[in-house]
Amino acid sequence: MDDTPNAGPHRVAEMTWREIDAALDRTRTLLIPVGSTEQHGHHLPLGVDALMPEAIGERVVERTPALLAPPIWYGVSPHHTFKPGTFTVSTETFQRYVFDICDSASEWGIENVLLLNGHYLAQDPELEVVVRRLRTESDVDAFHVPLVELFADVAAEIRTGDVSFHASEFETSIMLALFPELVDMDAATAVDPPEESLPLTDYDALGDNRVGWSLTAEDMEAITSSGNIGDPTVATAEKGDALVEAAVSGITELVDALEEPEE
Ligand SMILES: [Zn+2]
Repeated sequence: MDDTPNAGPHRVAEMTWREIDAALDRTRTLLIPVGSTEQHGHHLPLGVDALMPEAIGERVVERTPALLAPPIWYGVSPHHTFKPGTFTVSTETFQRYVFDICDSASEWGIENVLLLNGHYLAQDPELEVVVRRLRTESDVDAFHVPLVELFADVAAEIRTGDVSFHASEFETSIMLALFPELVDMDAATAVDPPEESLPLTDYDALGDNRVGWSLTAEDMEAITSSGNIGDPTVATAEKGDALVEAAVSGITELVDALEEPEE
């Protein structure tokens, strides 16, 4: 029998309750991929924002004893409803739903929840609020883990495109690394954002965004006919591997710190 800490099943949806019970002897940490189902241009599928954090979570649980919850597939995406296939829920519904999911896990012994946010930037504010409420109103220690922040340093080093905002260099590279069969690079086209953005804002995931702002579906429709903003044609699986590894090692470091036995 393998007694290394990461042995045994980790994917909650594929386990029995008795296997969960046994796993709680090894871990009190739960990873919840949080995404959205929204348009990602001509070349990427609608599920990118949930597929990425789930696959990254899978790699984390290969290295740690943590459990991996089924993803939250629907998020706050009102700015993408100009294309079919996009779902959106209100910010209030989303916050209550995510809060209740995390709070209910505390009933069966989960102490730490990492919300792996693949729908970066757009639902950061909601998840920050949920984390604060969980820490004060429930028994779980919750963390908002936006993937884009974890790979920001690596992305800044390896990027070759000027703009990567939505469904562009970073997301396309990660999808090429994780789900190449779901990427149609022949359909990928570069879309430049408007030359001027508002002061203190930038059309780039790693841009100089000093004030909070948001785009509406009307704004998006005016900016992009394909649905992406930025240049996905410069994406490569090699870049994606580097971004994925940065995210996986960052999350692994956090899980390991949370799992350390208390003195
Ligand atoms: Zn996305």
